[in-house]
Amino acid sequence: STSMKKRKIAVLGSRSVGTGTRVLDILSSCLSGLYLLGKSSLVKQFIDNNFVDSYYPTIETTFSKSVVYKGVEYDCHIIDTAGQDEYSPLNSQHAIGIHGYILVYSIASKNSFNMIQVIHDKIMDFCGLEKIPCVIVGSKSDLQSSRQVDPKDGQMLAKQNDCAWIETSAKENINVGKVFELCLQEIEKNTVPNQQE
Ligand code: GDP
Repeated sequence: STSMKKRKIAVLGSRSVGTGTRVLDILSSCLSGLYLLGKSSLVKQFIDNNFVDSYYPTIETTFSKSVVYKGVEYDCHIIDTAGQDEYSPLNSQHAIGIHGYILVYSIASKNSFNMIQVIHDKIMDFCGLEKIPCVIVGSKSDLQSSRQVDPKDGQMLAKQNDCAWIETSAKENINVGKVFELCLQEIEKNTVPNQQE
């Protein structure tokens, strides 16, 4: 409907832990299955309500879903990016016109966690803003025995950067909807009413 509020959300995360080339994706997933972040699985669970163990998007994909949050219907446009690394400059398409960010690390990869601050800083630099609406997400929370990132460290990072934080499992469908709710919550905190209709 035309009264729906449009919200553009970008999902970003590290590339160095496996989201780079398809070959690297397949290799690392063969080695352990632990090192890819699960960005696409999270988005797929949210949009389609299912989990496919071998979901390998090699290019950026966008999805739309309408979400009712606090009685308001939002038309969410979600950009699932191919992944970032320390040296890649931020793609302007991941900054201009984006209302909110979902920054994903894997709880089973310390490296992917360390990249979150790097990516967050790049977005801040690019946008020249004091604060960006953002949720930091620890994915694959079902992999407790492979955990490399303490929940406390996740919470602390989020607090330092004035972001929301949550752990999810796309596989077990835990907290998936919550990620996008938190993102809308962060977006609405910053939004002057009607400014971004
Ligand atoms: P992306 O490269 O960050 O988009 O990651 P994908 O969504 O493609 O997932 C990478 C790999 O991690 C795939 O083999 C997925 O099946 C697996 N994966 C994704 N989410 C989860 C999860 O919540 N739990 C577990 N155990 N594996 C997951």
